[in-house]
Amino acid sequence: MKILVTVKRVADYNVKVYPKADGSDVEIANVKMSMNPFDEIAVEEAVRLKESGNATEIIAASIGVSQCQEVLRTALAMGADRAILVETGAAPEPLAVAKLLKALVEREQPDLVILGKQAIDGDCNQTGQMLAALLGWGQGAFASKLTLGEQETEVTREIDGGLETLILKLPAVVTADLRLNEPRYVKLPNIIKAKKKLLTTLSPGDLDTVLAAQLTTLKVAEPPKREAGIKVADAAELVAKLRNDVKVI
Ligand code: AMP
Repeated sequence: MKILVTVKRVADYNVKVYPKADGSDVEIANVKMSMNPFDEIAVEEAVRLKESGNATEIIAASIGVSQCQEVLRTALAMGADRAILVETGAAPEPLAVAKLLKALVEREQPDLVILGKQAIDGDCNQTGQMLAALLGWGQGAFASKLTLGEQETEVTREIDGGLETLILKLPAVVTADLRLNEPRYVKLPNIIKAKKKLLTTLSPGDLDTVLAAQLTTLKVAEPPKREAGIKVADAAELVAKLRNDVKVI
């Protein structure tokens, strides 16, 4: 049982990001970059499946600039067996990532692909669903529990109304939600060992994929500042304000 797990390099979730002065994008120069938090959960799940004897090999994949090697090394230190970087200059859109991942899947033939449910930079929440559609595989998005069998996987999904449990025929695509697990702390000896693990670099051309941008960013701006609230003395004053000032009742 082979698992492909995806890891995206994003601005660290503790960092407050700002728009660039010209409003063309988010400023990431000199910003601490890390593995997308949902991808840490995806890697952790793959490693647990291997530790419990349900998986034999974990391949971590990232698509982006050469510095993405850092997040791949973290995935290797967490327990992935080898890593693949598809090196691209610009940050690819979800559809382009899904197309490259499809080509990687055809090359590596995994039984299961685990992605994060969403990358915290673009908040797109699209790549896993697009990949499943391109491959024609079953998908379990927003997984909070995953049990792997020989031919199928049982996935509990967090949906608006509660929890939904699906049985997916393998091969399948799963995206990891927050409650799937708590990622391990990476220990120093494992970081050192990870330096010796295989990290292959490919180009989109090696995967016979041409990246064409479909989206144009018009402007990146700070959200409007929230105005300070007011205190009312009692319910009667609140009702009067809602009726006369805000005019919502
Ligand atoms: P998104 O659809 O952009 O919100 O991303 C959903 C998930 O797809 C992420 O959590 C990653 O697991 C994966 N993903 C998206 N972009 C990349 C990328 N450039 N490299 C590796 N994985 C990615």
